[in-house]
Amino acid sequence: MLTIRTDTKIHKMAQNNAPVAYAKSGDTVRFETLDCFGGQIQSEKQLLGGLDWSCINPATGPLFIEGAMPGDVLKVEILEIELDDHGVMVDSPGEGVTGCAVTEESTKIFPVYDGMVYFNDKLAFPIEPMIGVIGTAAAGEGIDTGTPGPHGGNMDCTRIGAGATLYLPVNTEGALLAMGDLHAKMGDGEVEVCGVEIAGAVTVKITVLNNCGLPTPFLVNQEVAAAIYSAETVDEACVGATMAMHSFLMKELRMNEHDAGMLLSVTGNLRICQIVDPEKTCRMEIPLSVPNAYQYFFA
Ligand code: CA
Ligand code: CA
Repeated sequence: MLTIRTDTKIHKMAQNNAPVAYAKSGDTVRFETLDCFGGQIQSEKQLLGGLDWSCINPATGPLFIEGAMPGDVLKVEILEIELDDHGVMVDSPGEGVTGCAVTEESTKIFPVYDGMVYFNDKLAFPIEPMIGVIGTAAAGEGIDTGTPGPHGGNMDCTRIGAGATLYLPVNTEGALLAMGDLHAKMGDGEVEVCGVEIAGAVTVKITVLNNCGLPTPFLVNQEVAAAIYSAETVDEACVGATMAMHSFLMKELRMNEHDAGMLLSVTGNLRICQIVDPEKTCRMEIPLSVPNAYQYFFA
């Protein structure tokens, strides 16, 4: 299996990035990833303000997928996420929602082993590994890896874990897939500005889809289908995610606009992915029983 190492990384998801590896549709590829701090934090004495910000949010890649052309959709099946043995969190005045409550910076390192994150001597949580940053080259000038958008990027969506399939747009030949910013665990919202940030590796199977009608980014796992949308405000991201799923119901399931709206109000769950990045990300989820009832099967 092809493995892409962390010495090949980007900080902008752009069409002019040189590919670091090549794969074919149907291949399985393993991406080794640094944490979102570029591995700079080795001690709780190291604070956010002292880091080299040019190394923040590295994404491993980009991978060129042969045959992927603009207008195609890249199907990314997340097969496995491996995690390092510790995760890092930082806190800083003004950062995130809760940054208004702190007056000095703080860093914590959490042990991660036996499937648990050890938060303190009272609390431990089962790991819920997820990918914070995953995307293809953005259209136009490119988008830095700290920002989400139509190409994916820093979506920080807790659903992007093993067993999920993510559908991303292809904006340039080869798609140029890259990823990083793993979290051992994170709550919806990422309100303090980071999850349990951790290095690791992600194994994905990639397939190029022609004539795929899904809105992107789109996610399907064992429970739900979700349309993911990022915008300047949470309000706009909520509307964007809702209407992306509404258009999926109309276009792919052939529902009329009334039924599609009513269905989303009855069984659609509008969730926040993150509200702390330069653009905010929300998702509209529907249970898989809906496409199943219409005998719609995801490519
Ligand atoms: Ca992130
Ligand atoms: Ca992160």
